[in-house]
Amino acid sequence: MELPQLNKFSGFRKCFSKTNDLLVTGKRLRYFIRYEGMNKLLSILLIFVSSCVNSQQKTGEPVEGIPVFAYHRFGDDRFPSTNIDMKVFKDQLNYLKENNYKVLTLDEAIEAIENENVKPKSVVLTVDDGYKSFYENAFPLLQEYGYKVTIFVNTSYVGGNDFMDWDELREISKAGMEIGNHSHEHPHFLNKQNPAKSFREDVLKAQSLFEKHLGYFPGAFSYPYGEYDRTLIEEAREMGFYAATAQRSGVMSPESTFAIPRFPMGGPFATIDGFKRKLKFLPLRIRVHSPQSTTAIAEEFVFSVQDEVFEGSVQCFIDGEKRKLTRNGNNFETAIPESSQRRQLLTVTARHKKSNLYGWSSFLLINTNNRE
Ligand SMILES: [Zn+2]
Repeated sequence: MELPQLNKFSGFRKCFSKTNDLLVTGKRLRYFIRYEGMNKLLSILLIFVSSCVNSQQKTGEPVEGIPVFAYHRFGDDRFPSTNIDMKVFKDQLNYLKENNYKVLTLDEAIEAIENENVKPKSVVLTVDDGYKSFYENAFPLLQEYGYKVTIFVNTSYVGGNDFMDWDELREISKAGMEIGNHSHEHPHFLNKQNPAKSFREDVLKAQSLFEKHLGYFPGAFSYPYGEYDRTLIEEAREMGFYAATAQRSGVMSPESTFAIPRFPMGGPFATIDGFKRKLKFLPLRIRVHSPQSTTAIAEEFVFSVQDEVFEGSVQCFIDGEKRKLTRNGNNFETAIPESSQRRQLLTVTARHKKSNLYGWSSFLLINTNNRE
C-alpha cells in the first residue's frame, strides 16, 4: 500500500521538555504545546513522549494486527445503511465476552502495537459521528459488559438533533469511553481548494472546542467519510494525533496507524456471522503499484503481496465483487471497473503460510469528481 512509503515519518515523535501548557490524556503522556498560528485560530501542537514505532518486520512474516470495527447508529432503523440492530450488537458483545476477547480503546490498542505487545484476541470498537443512539442504546449495554469504545465526534453537530450534547459526551468520557476528533464540519477535505489548510483550520477548531467542553485535546482522529491522502496523513501526524482511522476494510497493523482500516458494522455488514469471521483475519501487506495514490484516476489495479502467502490463495474484490487476476512477474493485475461511486474499495485477501490464517487488506480509491 502507499503507507510503507510514509515510514520516513516514524522518527517524528520526540521528547520535549515540559511547559505549563501540558495536558495529559489517556494512559500515555501526551504533550500539547500551544502556539499562535498564522491564522487567528488557536493552533495546537501535540507531541508524544512515547517511544517511536518500531514496525520493522522480518520479510514474509505476517505482522501482528488488531481488528477494528466502525459503527455509526445503534437500534435506529430510520437509517438502515449505518445502523446496527441492538440484538445483533448484543450478540456481538456476548460473543466477545464468551470467547475472552480484550476490547481495547484505540489508545490502548496503539500502545500495545507500539510496544510490540499485542495480546491475542484484541479488538477495537469505534463509533463515528456521535449520534444520540449511541448514548441511548449502546452506552448502557457497553457499561453492562464493562467494555470501552472510541467515539469520533464532529464538533459542529454536538447538541444538534440526533447528536449527543456536551453533557452526554462528558458523561461517556468520564465513564472511560475515548473521545476522538472527527473534524468540526465533517467536510470533504479532498474537494477543498487547499485541502491541507482547510484540514488544519477545521480540525484545530474542533480541538479547541473539545478542550473548552471536555477539558482535554483528543489524541485520535477519524477522517470524515474515511477519505484521506498523503497530505492529510502528514497533517494529522504533524498536528500531533497519535493515530487516524479511515474507512477501508482490513486489520490494523503497525504500518497503518494513520489510515487505520476498519470493518464497517452498519447495514448489510452488521451481522454476527460477519463479525465473527472478520475477528479472525490478520493484516496483509500489499504494495500497490497502481493506482499511485488514493485520489488518482486509474484503470488498473496492480499490486504485489509482501507477506509469504499460499500462491493460489490470493483473491481480489472490487466493491465486494470478485475480480479475475492476471499474474505478471510478482505483480497481480486486474481492471478497475468504471463507477459512479465516490469511493471504490480494492480488496485483497490471501492465506498466510506461517499461520494458515487469512490476511485482508484494502486500498481506498476516491474519485473526487463524484458526489457522495
Ligand atoms: Zn462521519
